[in-house]
Amino acid sequence: MFRIGYGYDVHRLAAGRKLVLCGVEIPHEFGLLGHSDADVAVHALCDALLGALALGDIGKHFPDTDEQYEGISSIKLLRHVNMLISEKGYTVGNADITISAQKPKLSDYIDKMRQNISEVLKTDLDSISVKATTTEKLGFEGRCEGISASAVCILHKR
Ligand code: MG
Repeated sequence: MFRIGYGYDVHRLAAGRKLVLCGVEIPHEFGLLGHSDADVAVHALCDALLGALALGDIGKHFPDTDEQYEGISSIKLLRHVNMLISEKGYTVGNADITISAQKPKLSDYIDKMRQNISEVLKTDLDSISVKATTTEKLGFEGRCEGISASAVCILHKR
């Protein structure tokens, strides 16, 4: 018994914000704008995990009108989502995340990102893939107006 999930998210880049992707703070002149730390990659992953069990989406579980989520690390949200999955009797098989960003270059941070996610989801490191791509300067990512991320996952019944 297995379930497949898919998630997608976009956040706008803005001055005076930290850039956090998969729980890693990345030095950059802009960061992502949002109610939480705006970790777009973790948000896409949370939506994939919730989607796999038809549990709704991240906005349903962590409304941006709720003050308790203001500035929160999205890694904490992911931890909660993993608990929901566990309560349903499922465990994460593997997950694959793609981040679309023109800048900054993310290759130096990929390993730490994978490590962060695998620790929270309690998987082997090689069950978590994080990839980064530019969009060849096309679209909002290419114009450095924002960063998008998509994620797929598979869950196994315990
Ligand atoms: Mg989001």
